[in-house]
This record gives sequence, C-alpha cells and structure tokens, in this order.
Amino acid sequence: MSHQHWCDYGGHYWICQGSAVRLFQQEATECKCLNCGVSMEEGDHSNCSVELLSCPEHRAEHMRAMGYEPDYVGPAPSESDEPSPMFTDSEGNRTCGFCLWCNRDFYSIDEWREHTDNGMAHCEVFQLLKDQTTMPPVLRAMFEQAGFLEEEGENDNQKK
Ligand SMILES: [Zn+2]
Ligand SMILES: [Zn+2]
Ligand SMILES: [Zn+2]
Ligand SMILES: [Zn+2]
Repeated sequence: MSHQHWCDYGGHYWICQGSAVRLFQQEATECKCLNCGVSMEEGDHSNCSVELLSCPEHRAEHMRAMGYEPDYVGPAPSESDEPSPMFTDSEGNRTCGFCLWCNRDFYSIDEWREHTDNGMAHCEVFQLLKDQTTMPPVLRAMFEQAGFLEEEGENDNQKK
C-alpha cells in the first residue's frame, strides 16, 4: 500500500511506494510508521503522522540547501543528540561553564570543581574581592549589558 510523505523542502505531499531515500542516506530504506513503529506496508496508517521527507525530485536540492552534496552520507545534523553548547569560550570551543569571578573557562567538570574547591581557593579574583560586598564582576557585567542595573553614579569613569 502506498502512503504519503510531506516534502518539507518543496512544500507538497507525495506518494511513496514503501521505501524512500532519506536525507543523509544513499540507499532507500523501508518507511516505518512514526506512530506505530511498524512498516507502512502493514496495516492502515491513514490517521497516523505523515513523515517529513523530501521527495525524490527535491532531495538533491534540499541537501545542497543544507550545504551538502546530494550523495553525502553521514549523521544528519539534526539527528545528533548533542545538546547545543550552553557555553563557549572566546574561540567558540565548548565549555562546561565559566567562573563568575575571574571569567575563566572550564572545559570539564573536574576543572570547575578544582577551581571552586575550598571556598574558591584557586580563584584569584574571588580571593581579592571576597571581603567586599560586591557581586561577581562577570555577573555584574552581564547584568549591566542586559540593562538590569541602573548606573549608580560611582563609576564615573564609565560614563561618557
Ligand atoms: Zn518535493
Ligand atoms: Zn515512504
Ligand atoms: Zn501508523
Ligand atoms: Zn575564578
């Protein structure tokens, strides 16, 4: 039994005979129902979700539009389950976080633990500022950028 796909690149439905070449694959693979998890050939899926799949005419164009050759085979960018990086350093490398006091980037949780261990004994900026009632400089800068903090008039040299 044939079924339909929605060609999201071309914006139209198309009729599929049971298997199709998906993006980032070279060989046609059997279509499975997204809802039932069984082959589209088995049973009636007229009420099930329609799989988004570029039709044979649009597939090559769709691949090129994403910056790949049509015969490129590999993991689809959207299928990788890596969460998009929360934090990156100035060069765009992925980090686990950064220190709000000295703005140091941490590339692993261990690094972060070591830095914040013993009341942040390893953070020079924290050690310098800890006796003052001030918020972490990096946090303060972020607040200022976001406009959360009114200028308090004490930083005259920052005024224009
Ligand atoms: Zn199409
Ligand atoms: Zn199909
Ligand atoms: Zn189904
Ligand atoms: Zn630090």
